Amino acid sequence: MLIMMIEDEAALREVVEYNLGREGYQVVSFDNANDALIALEDMPPDLVLLDLMLPGLQGLQFLDILRQKDKRTPVVIMSARTSEEDVIRALERGADDYLPKPFSVKLLETKVKVALRRSAGEEADRGGSLQCGGVAIDLEAHRVTSDETEIQLTQKEFDLLVLFVRKQGKVFTRNQLLNIIWGYENDVNSRTVDVHMAMLRKKLADNGRHIRTLPKIGYLWESRTK
Ligand code: CA
Repeated sequence: MLIMMIEDEAALREVVEYNLGREGYQVVSFDNANDALIALEDMPPDLVLLDLMLPGLQGLQFLDILRQKDKRTPVVIMSARTSEEDVIRALERGADDYLPKPFSVKLLETKVKVALRRSAGEEADRGGSLQCGGVAIDLEAHRVTSDETEIQLTQKEFDLLVLFVRKQGKVFTRNQLLNIIWGYENDVNSRTVDVHMAMLRKKLADNGRHIRTLPKIGYLWESRTK
């Protein structure tokens, strides 16, 4: 697994290289995004760790360029900018996760592992069925079971569930969910998202625990629950 890290702080680069290296990852690091952009062609990474405030090309600009040609490679932001707006902006522009600085090595390793597992899951998904914990989805028959009991979902609830299970671990903002699931339908707002998520969670009964609410930001599906 090749991890590309773009971080201008040398001490942090060293810590991350050492610890991820010890976990068996190959880490290639850059102190600026311009060089990383050139290197992308020769060595497409399995995951990108990206700082936002950089000399020259900024983290979000790098993300925009990357996402123009590559929607899949997971990108985890590492940044001291931790305001709600910063987090939302990065997620909406295509980041998969956000690690506020300072962070623990353990949290970093977990986020990297989860993001890689999710992208591997997407590759393996052949369209017939999806499963996570006690939830099983038959995509063709539009049939959903939660702990082996069939549950009835509306079309929107079904679409939300499929999206979350396919992209488990990824945070979706309410705006992203509105765009993806509702498109440009009229009369919908972030409250619509909340209502549907609440209903979906309720219908999933025990498995509703997989849906985690990030206050003011959005939702994610956690494959493992406590
Ligand atoms: Ca920086």
